[in-house]
Amino acid sequence: MELPAVPRRPSQTKIVATVGPATHGRDKIEALVKAGVDVFRLNMAHGSFEEHDAQVHWIREIEQDLKTPLGILVDLGGPKIRLGELKNGSLECQPGMQVTFVMEEPPQQPTELPVSCPEVISALKEGDRVVLADGTVTLRVIGKSENRATCLVTQPGLLRSRQGINLPGVKLPLPAITEADREALAWALQKDIDFVGLSFVRSPDDVRQLRQLMGEVQNPPQIVAKIEKPEALDYLDEILDLADAVMVARGDLGVEIDIAEVAIVQKRILAAARRHRKPAIVATQMLESMQRSRIPTRAEVSDVTNAILDGADACMLSGETAIGSYPEESVRMMHRIALATESVSHPPVRFQAANAFPANPAEITEASVWHAGLIAQEVGAKMLIILTRSGQTALTIAKHRFLVPTVGVSESRQVLRRMCLYWGIIPLMEAPLSDSQALLRFATEWGKREGLVQSGDRVVFVYGTGLVSSAHNTVSVFVAD
Ligand code: PGA
Ligand code: MN
Repeated sequence: MELPAVPRRPSQTKIVATVGPATHGRDKIEALVKAGVDVFRLNMAHGSFEEHDAQVHWIREIEQDLKTPLGILVDLGGPKIRLGELKNGSLECQPGMQVTFVMEEPPQQPTELPVSCPEVISALKEGDRVVLADGTVTLRVIGKSENRATCLVTQPGLLRSRQGINLPGVKLPLPAITEADREALAWALQKDIDFVGLSFVRSPDDVRQLRQLMGEVQNPPQIVAKIEKPEALDYLDEILDLADAVMVARGDLGVEIDIAEVAIVQKRILAAARRHRKPAIVATQMLESMQRSRIPTRAEVSDVTNAILDGADACMLSGETAIGSYPEESVRMMHRIALATESVSHPPVRFQAANAFPANPAEITEASVWHAGLIAQEVGAKMLIILTRSGQTALTIAKHRFLVPTVGVSESRQVLRRMCLYWGIIPLMEAPLSDSQALLRFATEWGKREGLVQSGDRVVFVYGTGLVSSAHNTVSVFVAD
């Protein structure tokens, strides 16, 4: 039997990498997998469907060649407002200068800023704050007519065509899922993808709406709610109940709320995700300077470490891998930081689940995996094997962060790919599931090849719910041959 070749020592923290011009190519994507990527993000705000088609095709080929499950996250752009084409392509906004939002394109004057949707100008009122280019430039509205809003530059900087616009605190009557999102979703549902990112979630209804749109599809992708609006923070528990995973989308979040609060809000979101037993991704600017440098700043290294210590299941790279000069180096660096952070052993903590577990199986799973982890520690097991149908058993143990290497197996390829977001779970492809002896042999052979297990070592085996008749969960300890 051919064994799966995981080409590296995986970090327990998962790595999400955004694909873009810098990584468009089968070889480039394969190099990223070998450097440590678990999930690829296709950012639908950029690139064509043809490009994304090719990317999905390559990722699936590589998954098969390397026998390593790989997740694909299709990130819908959501109602992101953007500048249109500026008269001169760019505009240096000086302190105290006046600029005017206009509806018509092309603009007549260099200081006229065309906007992509008319709702913006209608919604603006005198005194409102407008933030452009990810927080670089700030304006205050000082005059308003039907089709124009005149603003004073309060924080100077350079503007370029098509940059993003944020209106913190202004409620815009924009749909959560735009026409472009629907088109991208229709494309995604035809493809073999695992996660859909929902940008600018404002309420639990936004998540419901996406789920409804995916409607009848068999094995619909999992929903990743991107937390980047202050409204979402008010409904965090409800959103986490409905979504399958969450992203701390610090790029827009850092503009929509006071940037000084970003790290504190990150901790809050990660704690909530842990209580709800949902995987959480920390995103944006994690190794930002590596777009142009082989070495990150100390602050960036510290950021990745702290995100992991805060409870992130996965850390994400955006520009670093999409448009940067050092995509592979960025992944390697993130992987190294994760390994260094994870090598600091800590006693596992039994994190309480949200009161969202009225159903008995979840409660039993909670207790079983917690004690399976303790047994593994106490008997000095070298590996934990989790056999799971839905992935829930693997996700639950992931939240407790036992340091024993943990392998996840499932009959469903979709479930294996979901595990690509679960902290510390190594999904094993093509494991024989029909009899437990064969599965155990397969997993320990793999462990031996990875240098994790030797003959005589103990291995703890957890069967998830519904896999042994009339038993919710079963925990056994084996000695490797
Ligand atoms: P984006 O989302 O890159 O799609 O904007 C992430 C973020 O805002 O941090
Ligand atoms: Mn965003």
